[in-house]
Amino acid sequence: MSDDDIQYPIYLDYQSTTPVDPRVMEAMQPYFSEIFGNAASKSHQHGHDALAGIEKARKQIAKAINAKPQEIVFTSGATEAINLAIKGMALSDRIKGNHFITVATEHKAVLDCFDWLKRQGFDTTILPVDSEGMLTVEDVVAAIRPETAMVAVMAANNEIGVLQPINEIGQACRERGIHFFTDATQALGKIPLDVQAGQVDLLCGSGHKVYGPKGIGMLYVRRSNPRVHLEPLIHGGGHEGGLRSGTLATPLIVGFGEAVELSCKGMKSESARLNELTQEMLKKLKASIPDLKLNGIADKRLPGNLNVSLGCVNAEALVAGLSSKVSISTGSACTSKEVLPSHVLDALGIDEEVLRSCIRISFGSCSSILSANHAMLAIADSYKRLSAFG
Ligand SMILES: *Cc1c(COP(=O)(O)O)cnc(C)c1O
Repeated sequence: MSDDDIQYPIYLDYQSTTPVDPRVMEAMQPYFSEIFGNAASKSHQHGHDALAGIEKARKQIAKAINAKPQEIVFTSGATEAINLAIKGMALSDRIKGNHFITVATEHKAVLDCFDWLKRQGFDTTILPVDSEGMLTVEDVVAAIRPETAMVAVMAANNEIGVLQPINEIGQACRERGIHFFTDATQALGKIPLDVQAGQVDLLCGSGHKVYGPKGIGMLYVRRSNPRVHLEPLIHGGGHEGGLRSGTLATPLIVGFGEAVELSCKGMKSESARLNELTQEMLKKLKASIPDLKLNGIADKRLPGNLNVSLGCVNAEALVAGLSSKVSISTGSACTSKEVLPSHVLDALGIDEEVLRSCIRISFGSCSSILSANHAMLAIADSYKRLSAFG
């Protein structure tokens, strides 16, 4: 590949979404046309064929997290899975108490569900993180009360990429008989996940973050030791063990299963490649931006994530000015519509002014050294121009 082959804008926003892997497209293709049956039609071949595709995907996803296939519930995405996990627990008549715990750096879907909990009269605790974005198992244990029903801590952060000690937290919750839910949307297919080792009761993921299609997600719901009881939010034909009614999106589910399997197969080599690329690009950026600082802990983070503050330059202006050359974001896509500074960076205690200079770069499958180099040059160039004005 030569410089002329670079396609602009260079996409460096893989934590916002990913392109569908061509092998995933190929696996999905027949399920739009030939294999179009309704998986709930038990009486004929068309239904059986669609069901076979779905059951394969269920196995592929279960294997990726060391669960049983019947513990995977398909949803429209991670947002819906998060709503089902938290609200479904709150509305269950088997709920153990009225107190829920989570962390300030969670995805908005989790935090907004916690707002809902509060409005419904539940007690909630939102734990702070340290200046590197980390939570400890001791922090969680200290917040647990006799009436705590659930602890929700994400596996990998979507803005700063930090990895929380979910296995330790899960074990501590299990010892105390409290349900543990982890939003693993950024972690699935990127880092090893094991619901047995982590004593996880509920775990969610999404197709479009792992080179699968948009509009499909899943919730792992533990069925034994202990069985988790949720109240469904969507009622109807009783699909997905009664937990999520509605005709299953066969092509999307097949694609999601394939995407997860492929990501897990390539995990070791791809994470090594992305880690190396990320380190190299961080060095490059540091060399041209003297005030640059990495946000979030350096050694426990998702491969491919770089969230940095640039000092005095306004990130919104930088990202907008760069948009013909590089696609990156300031904070997360969900909050960048508002001009409000990211709640995640705010939770790290970063100064208001510095906070407005933060950008998130996320590398992925199509990021090469060559394209990344071009992107870093463009960012450094834009920084120079803007800081000359400042
Ligand atoms: C993207 C994301 C979500 C939302 O997923 P959708 O499938 O787009 O609804 C939730 N949590 C995290 C950590 C995410 O990165």
